[in-house]
Amino acid sequence: MIDGRALAAEERRVLADRVAALAAQGRQVRLDAILTEGDAGAEIYAQRQRAGAEQLGVGFQLHTIPNDADEAEVLACVQSLNADPGVHAMMMFLPLPDGVEAERVQAAIDPAKDVEGVNPANIGNAVFGRRSLVPCTALAVRHLLERRGVDLCGLRCLVIGQSNIVGKPIALLLMRSDATVFSVNRSTKDLPELARSCDVVISAAGVPGLVTPEWIKPGATVIDVGINRIKGPDGKSHVVGDVQTAEVAEVAGDISPVPGGVGPVTVAMLLRNVVESAEQAGLD
Ligand code: NAD
Repeated sequence: MIDGRALAAEERRVLADRVAALAAQGRQVRLDAILTEGDAGAEIYAQRQRAGAEQLGVGFQLHTIPNDADEAEVLACVQSLNADPGVHAMMMFLPLPDGVEAERVQAAIDPAKDVEGVNPANIGNAVFGRRSLVPCTALAVRHLLERRGVDLCGLRCLVIGQSNIVGKPIALLLMRSDATVFSVNRSTKDLPELARSCDVVISAAGVPGLVTPEWIKPGATVIDVGINRIKGPDGKSHVVGDVQTAEVAEVAGDISPVPGGVGPVTVAMLLRNVVESAEQAGLD
């Protein structure tokens, strides 16, 4: 089992040193977040984000916008943060107010401060192999593989799921490591057979129990990105991934479970993007 919590703690220690080095030069790293009022889940997530940032010595400022704000108001908030040199990094909690299109607002975030990697300019630069801020879940998957010593060059890797923010960026990063990447979706035929031919299987479909032991080549590395809430036999709600972890673990080599795998590392990767934005800002 890959211990994502331990890897995240190790990364946070490295980041704390980098934040301290910037502070020693008189530079306070700062992350600003935009939150639409009224969504309890997003509010909890924002408070967790604050705690995680402040633990590293990163300043965190939350900008709450009314839930009846229009697009011009949300864009004005983004633009004021773009223009503020004290803000190194920006993130935006969804959902936005009704009628405000997330993609248009995300495209307005300064790519150099876009720590969630949601501005299409960042993914475009990543395609060209240029410096860019890549979505944190994809960074987390790559980090887990790297830290387990998986040399991706020449390996057959399956990425289940093709969303713009999760599946496609994962596939892109694997390609950049010279892996042979199969990117599949819910219409893909003969998926179990393809999966069985792969050295690495990464599932980001959002389907509990999708990946069974029959899909896995003995010794293959399995990374579960799914986060699904299901009701257990006790009637209580549980978080599970896409992989039948206990059964697949009998066949797989390394396996990253849910919870405790990709999730905590994703949070650490967001903070890594924040620190990199601040370091880069100093070079301009
Ligand atoms: P999405 O719904 O936007 O995309 C799902 C993708 O999976 C689509 O391309 C779809 O075609 C594919 N898919 C669905 N069912 C499939 C099947 N049976 N076989 C093959 N492909 C199938 O979802 P998303 O936003 O990309 O998120 C995917 C999962 O990852 C969700 O469970 C989400 O909660 C989780 N997630 C985890 C993290 C993390 O940090 N661990 C971050 C973001 C999202």
